[in-house]
Order: sequence, then structure tokens, then C-alpha cells
Amino acid sequence: MMGEPKSNRKRILTGDRPTGKLHLGHYVGSLQNRVKLQHEYETYLLIADIQALTTHWDKPEMLKQAVYDVAMDNLAVGIDPEVTTLCVQSMIPEIAELTSIYGLFTNMNRLRHNPTTKAEALQYGMIHENGDLISGFDQLTYGFFGYPLSQAADITFVRAHLVPVGEDQKPHVELTRDVVNKFNQLYGGGKEIIPMPKALIGDVPRLAGLDGDTKMSKSLGNVINLADPPEAVKDTVWKAITDKDKIRKGDPGNPEICNVFKYHKVFNQSEQIAEIERDCKSGVLGCVECKGRLTDILNGMLAPIRERRRPYEEHPERVKEILLEGTKKARILGKETVRMVKEAMKIDYFVL
Ligand code: SF4
Repeated sequence: MMGEPKSNRKRILTGDRPTGKLHLGHYVGSLQNRVKLQHEYETYLLIADIQALTTHWDKPEMLKQAVYDVAMDNLAVGIDPEVTTLCVQSMIPEIAELTSIYGLFTNMNRLRHNPTTKAEALQYGMIHENGDLISGFDQLTYGFFGYPLSQAADITFVRAHLVPVGEDQKPHVELTRDVVNKFNQLYGGGKEIIPMPKALIGDVPRLAGLDGDTKMSKSLGNVINLADPPEAVKDTVWKAITDKDKIRKGDPGNPEICNVFKYHKVFNQSEQIAEIERDCKSGVLGCVECKGRLTDILNGMLAPIRERRRPYEEHPERVKEILLEGTKKARILGKETVRMVKEAMKIDYFVL
């Protein structure tokens, strides 16, 4: 079982915002890589439930189930709780303490010009394309604006060395590096109090929805969740947008504009991809068969994930136990970090 957080291996911080069940986009974008990394690095996996509320503050009631779902999705894909520490953000007050400390010396421009925050603000209708605010500051909350600082606190409370991220999340890590640098300069007196984290950029494909939309969501009907049963996978693949000019088998198609083909390229074996491409172009292959093949491949891949998920679904108390145990372990590091930070800032004059 997990003991004291002592290891000579480099430490990584990874995690998810629990806003719903995880889907194939998460699987290829981060989960697969995370499962491999856990054997190489001392891994902390944070379920960032408070951060989920920066965009879903009016729906706190959805959090509990979402925390369970995200934990189960991670366990189902192969995250091993004996190796990886799974923890829940709202149970770690040290993250909130660090967030407020970092806010003291981070200027607004640094937050405003963060491209990841901008992209999200756009997605949630908080700003216009040109970056101007919609309805002044009415739509933009303090929590959303400060989100990158809360991420800096996530990364630094365990004093992570590396953060596995996709290219689009790199600016958040850059901002964390600025925060760490500034903290160490201001309060470290030449010493590195908080280790400087680095982004670990994975070579992972970015998956769009099966309708071609880059925004993947269950409400759009364009995603396959890891927990979906075989019939639901089939239904979603069946609705996928293909080459609209290929009406029936025999018509030559263009796989490059087809979303089913894009999924084949990510999930299928290379020799079959070449065959599909050739037969789609010649017309020998029809879309019904092509979608059927993709459905089989996806269901074959998801079968062991569903299998691993089942015992956790049947015994959610086991998931809770994993999260509580992991959070306790993570807090040992968090308390140590806050103690070091307060000592460096010389605000450790009173101890309760
Ligand atoms: S045959 Fe396959 S690759 Fe070609 S358009 Fe139809 S679904 Fe797409």
C-alpha cells in the first residue's frame, strides 16, 4: 500500500477537471500516456473539482458523481492506485493557500494574455473573437481569471518536476514557471524554494468529434465515452459525418474529408488504413462496412476498459477509499510545501 511520499524518481502532476465522463479524446490525448508514465515517474493525479466550478459554478451538485466518474475512468484505463496517487483538489486546502499567495505578486496582464485562458473564455462566451470582453467584466469571474494560478498551485503543492500536457496547455505551465521563478527570486534569497517544473509535451494525436467539430461533447452527440456500452458506440459511429458526396457503395470517396477515416487512422492498424484509403477511393468499400469496421475496433479496444471499470462501479466505496488514501498522502507534501513557502516569506511567526 502507499506509504510516505518518498521517492528518488522525478515527480509528475497530472489530472482532470471532473465535468463529466471521460471520452476517447481524453484517452488518446492524455490517459494513454499517463498510464505509461506512472511506471517511470512518481505520479500524482489530481481531480480538480474546484477548477471544474470555474466554468460550472452553478452546478455544484454534478461534482460528486463526476469525481467518481473521472476516478473510475482513470482506474479503468489502467491507472494503478498502488503506483499513482489519486487525490481530490477540494480536500487539499494547501492548494487554495498557495493560489492566494501566488495572486499577491502576479500581475493582471500576465493572466489576461494567457492564450489557454483566452481560448476557454471564447468557448464559454466570455469574450469576443478579438479578445474584447462580452458585457464588460460581468461574464468573467475572479475564479476563472485566476484559474492559471490555481493550476500553478496544483503543480507546486506536490513540488512536481514535470507536467505532462498537450501543446495547447503549455502556456499554463509557462505561467507556473514564471510564478515559481518570481517566488524564488522574491523570497528565496538565491535559493530554489519551489522546484522549477517543466512541461512534458507528449506526441499525442488530437481527436475531433465524429462530426468533425473540435468541441467534443455528449450533448453534441459526437463523442464516445470510455464507459459507453457497445450499442452506444455503434450508434455514435453510425451518426458520424463522412464524405457527403459518397452516397452509396461504388461511389468513389475522399477519405481525407471523412471523420470515420480520421478515427481509423488513430485506432486502426496501419496496413488496414492503407487498404481502407484505397478501397474508399475506388468505391469498393461502402460507408456502412467502413463504419462497422470502426465500431468493431473501438469496441475491441474498450472491452478491457469496461471490464476493469465494472468492479469499481459495483463497489464505489473502493473508489472513495482510493481517493481518501491518496488525498491524505498528497496533503503530507502539500503541508510541507506551505510550511516551506511561509518560512521563506517569513510569515511563519505564529503557529497554531
Ligand atoms: S468508405 Fe470509409 S473512409 Fe470512405 S467516406 Fe465512407 S466512411 Fe469514410
